[in-house]
Amino acid sequence: MARHFAIVGSGPAGIYAAERLARIAPDDRIDVIDRLPVPFGLVRHGVAADHQSTKAVTRVLGRALGRDNVSFVGNVMVGRDVALADLRRCYDAVILATGAPRDRRLGIPGEDLPGVHGSGAFVGWLNGHPDDAGLAIDLDNLTDVVVIGVGNVALDVARIFAKSPAELAAADLAPDVAEALAGLTLKSITLLGRRGPEDAKFTALELSEMGDLEGAQPVVDQQTMPPASAGEAKPLSILRGFSSAQRDDRSLGVHFLFHTRPLAFAGSGRLTGVRVVTADGTEAVLPAQLAITCIGYDSVACGNLEPASGVFANQDGKIQGGLYVVGWAKRGPSGTIPTNRAESHAVANRVAAETQAAGRPGAAGLIERVGDRIVDLDGWGRIDTAETARATGDRPRHKFTTIEEMIAAAHS
Ligand SMILES: Cc1cc2nc3c(=O)[nH]c(=O)nc-3n(C[C@H](O)[C@H](O)[C@H](O)COP(=O)(O)OP(=O)(O)OC[C@H]3O[C@@H](n4cnc5c(N)ncnc54)[C@H](O)[C@@H]3O)c2cc1C
Repeated sequence: MARHFAIVGSGPAGIYAAERLARIAPDDRIDVIDRLPVPFGLVRHGVAADHQSTKAVTRVLGRALGRDNVSFVGNVMVGRDVALADLRRCYDAVILATGAPRDRRLGIPGEDLPGVHGSGAFVGWLNGHPDDAGLAIDLDNLTDVVVIGVGNVALDVARIFAKSPAELAAADLAPDVAEALAGLTLKSITLLGRRGPEDAKFTALELSEMGDLEGAQPVVDQQTMPPASAGEAKPLSILRGFSSAQRDDRSLGVHFLFHTRPLAFAGSGRLTGVRVVTADGTEAVLPAQLAITCIGYDSVACGNLEPASGVFANQDGKIQGGLYVVGWAKRGPSGTIPTNRAESHAVANRVAAETQAAGRPGAAGLIERVGDRIVDLDGWGRIDTAETARATGDRPRHKFTTIEEMIAAAHS
């Protein structure tokens, strides 16, 4: 008797779990469910639009979804279209791979002002996520951007504003977003880190790219650099290089301010500045009409299952008998795409070892509950073809940003 596995979420963590189960349990069925009609989670909707080589992992992920005993079940949200308890009745084991979609908040005054956005929502807008595509991001009269955080997501956000239109020509940005970015005349981009350069979470490759841009230059105050030491981490030595570089006044400065923490967002009706304090207690207001907070993400409830401290409580991926968790929903927003692979494979091994067949209906039971709303892998293939076909210039695709458009393309 075949076993039926459901994986909730088709981001990298969910698909890597499916890939592993498909290999070690070839006679069983694996359904990868996503609330969107399109797969790949943050690889499609978070990873920087100008980093197409990173997004190319979708080819590997797509192959896993296409395996004989794997099905993509798009446009089904667990908790809205089917209760988690009902899903568990249909499947022998359920793996949650729902990510961590909620932006953490700083909890300082002015955080709800227009012009202040979390990075999850902001990159969702840039990347055409249906939840965020309609977000009121006001780029009119934008001259100064403040990015709060010193990790790779903060670099992704800063880089989108620092790159020239030519440098963004092959990014899968929506044409109207690309046009709005091209029309900007920025005066400054500032990244804020509450600790020192040695504590920044940048990786070397992403940080060094900031030093190779056509019209922008990273600016680091030499005074904030710790003394040089033999064998210091690569990102720190890159920042040191930035701090000793000759400043070219014709280029846009991307300022890295360390030991600086935001106190409040100022403005009425729209953000005008970010009040900050330095380690020695000096306060200042940085001009800004747009501030993006890049301070991490939390998981949200899946049906009536609530996360605790931003993740679903688990022991090595097990929540309770028959219910498991992988990826950001398991460990929080850390690591890279390959981190998810190793971890999801380990949890999938455990699921396969611990699950007995019990004659549950699997997909047939799910279809009975959700009806014909499902967009399957062929439907996604038609969306993919349509998005690629309507791309112009060097852009690889022009994404649909509403569920309705996606479904129409899936059925075309
Ligand atoms: C801005 C940004 C840039 C990044 N850049 C890089 C990079 O350059 N390189 C790198 O290695 N990593 C990068 N990452 C990290 C990488 O994206 C994550 O490690 C990875 O996406 C986490 O995978 P996941 O499957 O746990 O979650 P996600 O990718 O978030 O996938 C979760 C999926 O679950 C679905 N879902 C959620 N709730 C439900 C529900 N109730 N029912 C059905 N489906 C549901 C969602 O629609 C989504 O498809 C970046 C992350 C961000 C935020």
